[in-house]
Amino acid sequence: MRLRKVKHAGETIRNNPKYVIAYPESKKGLWNKTFGNNNPISLEIGCGKGLFLMEMARKNPDVSLIGIEKFDSVLVRALEKLIIDPLPNLLFVLADAADVDLFFDSDEIKHIYINFPDPWPKTRKAKYRLTNEAFLPKYRQILSENGKVYLRTDNFPMFEYSMMSINRSDDFSITDIALGKGIESDGYVETEFEIKYRKMGLPIFYLEASVERSRK
Ligand code: SAH
Repeated sequence: MRLRKVKHAGETIRNNPKYVIAYPESKKGLWNKTFGNNNPISLEIGCGKGLFLMEMARKNPDVSLIGIEKFDSVLVRALEKLIIDPLPNLLFVLADAADVDLFFDSDEIKHIYINFPDPWPKTRKAKYRLTNEAFLPKYRQILSENGKVYLRTDNFPMFEYSMMSINRSDDFSITDIALGKGIESDGYVETEFEIKYRKMGLPIFYLEASVERSRK
């Protein structure tokens, strides 16, 4: 994502701890309590400007949603949306996905969405890819027994890399793959990047990975 530095982004985020949780470590194991119910919790990693989560939260009032984004200049756009249209089942966290295991307890999360992650094409930057082998055990740790990771991308090398990475991992198995120009099912929510890429006529790759239960 092209980053334009937004003035006062950090300050706006700090002034809204109701929507952007300031010390997510302190909520570990307490997210249901924070939302005030026992609804399942889903996470979008790299939530960008929050369009997907706003729509998901509106359509799924019985699901709690959390978005993690590492850049304040991007997250502030998501926060602005939530301030205008407060939704009780949506919270944001300004942090690096590498720390998810510090923020969430084992079994605390039901689904993880990774939508249009930066592909980091250079091999020496592969460690930043969100489906890198270093991330997968952390996702496994916070997911429940029936947990799933959903990946969407327009970038075939990133898709291929993710399939290989998940295939090699003891933590997940790939349970569904699709390629399409549009998924029309009810309840399907497009992301900001997805809308843009579909308009350009690009194919989009989908992958579902399920927690490997047979793991010793
Ligand atoms: N999911 C959105 C945005 C995709 S762009 C959409 O589909 O429209 C990818 C986003 O992931 C960017 O905003 C980037 O800053 C964020 N990101 C990349 N690596 C991250 C990491 N390690 N932790 C948190 N966010 C990350």
